[in-house]
Amino acid sequence: MTGRFNRPCLTCGQLTRRGSYCDTHKPVKVDSPERKAKKAARYGPAYQRLAKQIRQTATRCHLCGGGPRDGDPWEADHVIPGSMAGGLAPAHRSCNQKKSNKLDDDTRRGNPGGGAGQGRPHESNN
Ligand SMILES: [Zn+2]
Ligand SMILES: [Zn+2]
Repeated sequence: MTGRFNRPCLTCGQLTRRGSYCDTHKPVKVDSPERKAKKAARYGPAYQRLAKQIRQTATRCHLCGGGPRDGDPWEADHVIPGSMAGGLAPAHRSCNQKKSNKLDDDTRRGNPGGGAGQGRPHESNN
């Protein structure tokens, strides 16, 4: 059976059905040890521990400046790397969500409302 469509490799043109590249030219997606280590350093046990510690010791939300709130657990929020140990700071979950919502909103609401209808010229009836 022939199966799916074959596509030519973008590099050599050899037909392949694995994607856009043949086996020889497909981008290497395998994490190199270096990459893995970096990732692990960012989100590995150390990160988890730090995030947990931040949630446990949080006293003030770095977004709204408020203290602990009922039903609003702390989350370790990413801040500018270097500004805090590990680049994490405590934030209310709601604040954290609001932040991402707002960012989303701001980018979506890019068009300034049309100013049509304003400054209507004088109608002169003769
Ligand atoms: Zn190829
Ligand atoms: Zn907050």
